[in-house]
Amino acid sequence: MNNNSKFLKEETLDPQNWDELKELGQSMVNDMINFLQTIREQPVWRKPPQAAKESFDKELPRSPQRFDEVYEEFRENILPYYLGNIHPRFWSWVMGTGSAQGMLAEMLAAALNCNVGIGDQAPMYVDKQVIDWCKQMMGFPAESSGALVSGASVANLNALIVARNSVNDKIRKWGLPEKMKLVMYASTETHSCIQKAAEIMGIGSEGVRKVNVNDKFEMDVVHLEKLIENDRAEGNLPFCVVANAGTVNTGAIDPLDKIFWICSKQDLWMHVDGAFGALLKLLPEYHEQLQWIEYADSVAFDLHKWMYMPYEAGVVLVRDANKHRASFALQPEYIVNNERGIAAGPELTSNFGFDLSRGFKALKVWMLLKENGIDKFKRLIRQNLEQAKFLEERIRASHELELMAPVDTSIVCFRYFKNGLGIKELNELNKEILIHLHETGIAAPSYTKLNGNYCLRAAIVNHRSRQEDFEVLVNAVISSGNELSKKYSLRNTKKEKAA
Ligand SMILES: *Cc1c(COP(=O)(O)O)cnc(C)c1O
Repeated sequence: MNNNSKFLKEETLDPQNWDELKELGQSMVNDMINFLQTIREQPVWRKPPQAAKESFDKELPRSPQRFDEVYEEFRENILPYYLGNIHPRFWSWVMGTGSAQGMLAEMLAAALNCNVGIGDQAPMYVDKQVIDWCKQMMGFPAESSGALVSGASVANLNALIVARNSVNDKIRKWGLPEKMKLVMYASTETHSCIQKAAEIMGIGSEGVRKVNVNDKFEMDVVHLEKLIENDRAEGNLPFCVVANAGTVNTGAIDPLDKIFWICSKQDLWMHVDGAFGALLKLLPEYHEQLQWIEYADSVAFDLHKWMYMPYEAGVVLVRDANKHRASFALQPEYIVNNERGIAAGPELTSNFGFDLSRGFKALKVWMLLKENGIDKFKRLIRQNLEQAKFLEERIRASHELELMAPVDTSIVCFRYFKNGLGIKELNELNKEILIHLHETGIAAPSYTKLNGNYCLRAAIVNHRSRQEDFEVLVNAVISSGNELSKKYSLRNTKKEKAA
């Protein structure tokens, strides 16, 4: 120790050489824009090789490494082994594509590194602006409330907590009374996050009544009413119906009008899970089906799916802001707003959700909505719908392919079909086809099971897809199906492919 030195040698994380960092930063930006510009030429997916995986199985670093070297490791071991959802021929699960402009917006937000939870800071007003725009998109009243959260799972949870707490204003203090058996209703096609939310909220998975669906996978409201009646007869306390605006399996839209009337009559909270499908409300051709979102008590949807925004961006809207606040506001002395200074400004965002510290998600949404205007998003959503119709037609026209569910939105479920193969073989074969498409990097649909049948499933929420990409998909499924089916011996059955 050098006792002569009066000060400690102070350190910082700032670079020693800012000019060098600027140069590196510029090449990173250029590399990433080039990467997105040429993504079509890349395979949809590459399996991460052993060496790449091993590079993430190291001891906690002790000594420093140059930042440009770490970036080189990123280019070598991370960049090529992306999930694929940025690619024009990725239609797995329901995943958004993001955009180059979105990437830059994220960079700006990262530079400010602000906590959009409190403060008289412009980002708080941007956050509010974006929530207001979301209300306008969904036809929610200006005095309703909302929050930007990580995704629709959390947005659904947020809304359902408000629904639950609205049953009884003592729940927040005392938890659920032992005698109170709260039950909610959702169709069998509902996303798993609803069950998880019920488990977290003390409703329990058994408290989610599974309502049957019709042959178009839409909620059977006659069954809904029967279940409610049974519950009331048994002394249970129905409190909420979750309606789907676009189910994850097939894109089905529940009969929102009928669900709204049942909720009004039965005094139940109507929540809409519109993770991707709620955005169809922007299109006049869905007005009839989706105008009912305007009357729901709450709605959850994602901007990172069918608004093509970078992850993460989910939205929850609650009609009655007071109920929303009554579920989440809790302000210890150290976070009440002041009248002036940094701690003045808009209402704390934590009054409307569980997050206290929050990043500046709103910036990308604000920038991209301004850059494109809402009409551009409408056109892109419609483009995806037309692509789904095109794919549907190609499937219907093909002898080797079979459509497995109606195409209500932009999810297309289908399979390769061959006379003489039983259900077990068809399931196995279609799974093989899917994996083949992934491993060759040609295209990335995903899969689901409908009525026991393994289906290939294309969820088209991709602004980079072109019509020709669906030709590639169809041809690849047929040719790999023809090839892979050779190993099965055909039975002499006469079953014809359905519809
Ligand atoms: C994707 C999806 C969710 C979950 O959304 P996340 O953003 O992944 O949390 C919920 N419901 C439906 C219908 C979905 O498609």
